[in-house]
Order: sequence, then C-alpha cells, then structure tokens
Amino acid sequence: MRIPMTVADFLDRAELGFATSPGVIDEPDQPAPPVPVSTYGRLGERVRAWQAGLDALGVGEGERVAVVSHNSARLLELLFAVPMSGRICVPVNFRLRPEEVDYVVRQSGASVLLVDPELDQALAGVKARHRFVLGEETETGLMRFGVEPRPWSRPDEDATATINYTSGTTARPKGVQLTHRNIWVNGLTFGLHTRVWERDVYLHTLPMFHCNGWGMPFVMAGLGVKQVVLRKVDGAEILRRVEEHGVTLMCGAPAVWNMVLDAAASWQGEIPGRDRVRVVCAGAPPPSRTIQRMEEELGWEFTQIYGLTETSPLLTFNRTRPADLHLPAPERARKLSRAGLPALGVTLGISDGGEVLARSNVVLEGYWDKPEETAEALQDGWFHTGDGGTIDPADGHLTISDRKKDVIITGGENVSSIEVEDVIFSHPAVAEVAVIGVPDEKWGETIKALVVLAEGASAAEADIIAHCKERMAGYKAPTSVEFRDVIPRTATGKIQKFKLREPYWAGRERQVN
Ligand code: AMP
Repeated sequence: MRIPMTVADFLDRAELGFATSPGVIDEPDQPAPPVPVSTYGRLGERVRAWQAGLDALGVGEGERVAVVSHNSARLLELLFAVPMSGRICVPVNFRLRPEEVDYVVRQSGASVLLVDPELDQALAGVKARHRFVLGEETETGLMRFGVEPRPWSRPDEDATATINYTSGTTARPKGVQLTHRNIWVNGLTFGLHTRVWERDVYLHTLPMFHCNGWGMPFVMAGLGVKQVVLRKVDGAEILRRVEEHGVTLMCGAPAVWNMVLDAAASWQGEIPGRDRVRVVCAGAPPPSRTIQRMEEELGWEFTQIYGLTETSPLLTFNRTRPADLHLPAPERARKLSRAGLPALGVTLGISDGGEVLARSNVVLEGYWDKPEETAEALQDGWFHTGDGGTIDPADGHLTISDRKKDVIITGGENVSSIEVEDVIFSHPAVAEVAVIGVPDEKWGETIKALVVLAEGASAAEADIIAHCKERMAGYKAPTSVEFRDVIPRTATGKIQKFKLREPYWAGRERQVN
C-alpha cells in the first residue's frame, strides 16, 4: 500500500486523539486579539475556516499564500491550512525590509498576502491580489467558520507544501520548495532524535517562518504535544514561560541560549526546568563555553543539529552518547560543539574542496523558478551545502568549519573563523564575537576580531590576542581587535559576515585577496 504522506496526517492525528487537549497556546502579548481556545479540536476547526475562506476568494490549488508574521497561532494555523488544501504557503521573514518582502511576494507570485498588524504600515506598499491584516480582519473578512472547505483534489506527497526563502547571507534570497514528503521525513526523524512524546511541552523560541520552525509545528501536532507561542525572544521571558507552562523542549540559535544564560544570572530562585528541558541548537556554531554553561548553570540538556532550509532542515544530530557521559564537562562540551552524526536516512560526504555534501529525502525539490541554481545545488546527485566541514573517521561526526566563503586565507593558510571565535569566546570578558578576514598587504588577508564585551567587563586588544596565542597556532590569532556595542544578526541568529567585511573591502573588486 502506498498512501501519500502529506501535512494533513499530522493534524488529522491531533484532532482524532487530542481534540480536547491543549494544542496551541497563543502569545498573550501581541497586537492582534490572541486566538482564545487552544485545543487541537479547535485548531482543526480554525484550519478549515481558513481553507473555506481561501476557497471563497477563488484561490486555487498550487497558488501561493504569503504570510509575514512574528510567531503567532495564526501563522501556525496557516502552515497547516494552506498546504493541506493543495496550496503553497510562503512564510516570510518579518525582519526583512519592505523592498525585500516585496521581492519575495513577487518572486513567489503570491496571490494572497497576510501581514501582522505591527508590520501593516511598513508593508503598505507591498501588494498582492488579496491582502489582509492578521487578526480581526482575517477573523471576520476571510475565515469562514462552520463552512466545509473544498478538499484537495489529488493529495500528492511530491507537491510543494511551502516555499521558504533563504536568509540571503550572500545574494538575493532564493525560494526553497519543500514538498509534503520532505516535511514528513524531516518531522519523523526530528521527532525520533529529539525523543518527542505526548507529555512534552514545546515552546516556539524559533521563528516559525524559518524553515517552518524546523518542522516542529507538524511534529508536535502529530504527537498531541502542547505548543506555546512566543512572539519575541527574550531570555527572562523564556525562563518565565518554561516555569509557567512546564516546557520540556525548545529550539534555537546559540544567540538565544546566550540570552537565557544572561537572564539566568539575575533570576530569583530555582532555574525552571532543571533536569527536564531539552534544547536543540543550530543555525550557527555554538561556542563550547555556551554548551558547558547551559548544562551547568541551567541543568538543561544540550543537543545540536546542523542543517539548512534546503534540507527541511535536519541533516545531523548530536547528543552526548552513553560512552561519553563520564567525560569531564569541558570535554563533553567540546564533543557536543560538533554538528553531529548524520540523522537517520542522511548520507554525508565531503567534496575535494572541503564542502559538505548531503543526500537524503529531506533535500529540497528545487529553488522556485530558478532552474540553474537548482541544477548547481544538486550537481552529481548530491546537495551542495556551501559549508566547509570535516567528518571524523573515528566516529562519523561532522564538524562545520565555516561557510565556504567565510574561510580566511592568511599567508596561504586556511583559518576557520568559527574556530577562532570559539577560542575568543572562552575569554570571560567576551559577550559576543565575529571574526572576519580583512585585506593585508603582506598576508593577503589578516584576521580581525569584532568583540562585544560583557557588561561591566574590560579587556584590551592585547589581552584578547594573547588569549588566542596561548590556545592556538599563532597564525590563527587575530592581528587586530575592534570593540563594538553590538554585532548585528539576522532574525535567525546569523551574523552576515559579508556585511561586516564590506567597509574593510570597500573599493576593491574582490572580497578575497
Ligand atoms: P538556513 O538555511 O537559514 O537555516 O541556514 C543554514 C546555514 O546555517 C548552514 O548552511 C550553516 O552555514 C549554518 N548552520 C546551521 N546549523 C549549523 C550548525 N549546527 N553549526 C554551524 N553552522 C550551522
């Protein structure tokens, strides 16, 4: 028997077994009226109301529905409603500038645009055939409660379910087409590796637009897990929600966990969730000091994954293995700072040039309307990640060394900026760091560290450089350090190195020497 695996399976099971259980608890503090009732039964009714509304608008199967929103129950509902009816959901990064949102809406050819009330004014110039502000306007003007929607005429696991635009650390964002099958396989392996079960409570610390919240909304619904929506990432608020809702599982970039660690320092009383919370970290390389502090100061289990929007995203998973449990904490943290072992059903390779390659059922169908880029990314039967990495022959674990284009070549030696950042971050005065290559007459490129100091801490340039030289080969140490108030990041916690490099390379043709 072969039955198409679609997003509907996750919600169908939630409605069947968990109709009266808590489903999605909406963010209380938001500009739209929060969605009041949270059961999975109610989620199903609301999903059908969205679908009946799209039917009434005449939005056909295969048409794109773009949603620009912070985390909210409504965005989560649309991640189900749109693909389950054979349409394609385009969740858009709410931090993009209006002209970037406009590009995404036009490139995807979306006929419907739904925007968060907070963004309505800024995005006034972004047009689509139908445009609604999420909240009262969609409740009364679009959703049709109690009307049976038209079923998807031919459910197909190979149909595109969502188009998620890449974070654009290089050029124009590209629309990643994820199929129902991609989402299904990712959900299954992710749930397995993170050991999700019915008694979990999931907090949405990750933006839902980002690769559909790594697919977690689907996994959690399939197992009837209570999902708590968090609109804005804030360390103290995360601790409060963990306490209030009995949260057990969260995902996020290293920057999120650093915020929680900062907040924990001034938290009154027991840290909530000790020996209960599991954290999944990815999106950027986590410093080993962060990992060790998470386990020691919070008592939360740290796991790491690696992946890309193009891979739904799960490619690797790293959790301390039983044989390593006895290791001293710094050694355990060092092992956990690697991206991990390929997830079930993933094959990894490293190209001659050191690029990480992947083969799996979670790899994208293609980039929307970009056949050349698709062919390039999928050359020779492998997905080309653009990340540099190595696989330890002793235990099969992958370590990401850098984005290919972020490798610094100084005096002919390759230096991984990630490795240097990890060492600088182990200096107690350092709160944040980004390492880049800047032009240098003698070496071609030389290493510069941009550092944000921890509150109340002080350190001089020479201290940071000496700290590095004591811990790594001399050529890997920065030759200059600049202190900054902030290091800008994308909504998904990524540092855009090309932007940091820009001022130093201005007027030059190439950004490498
Ligand atoms: P995105 O498509 O926005 O999710 O970005 C994917 C990129 O994030 C990857 O190509 C990596 O450069 C980076 N990334 C994701 N997970 C990790 C990780 N665990 N360690 C290092 N880099 C990561």
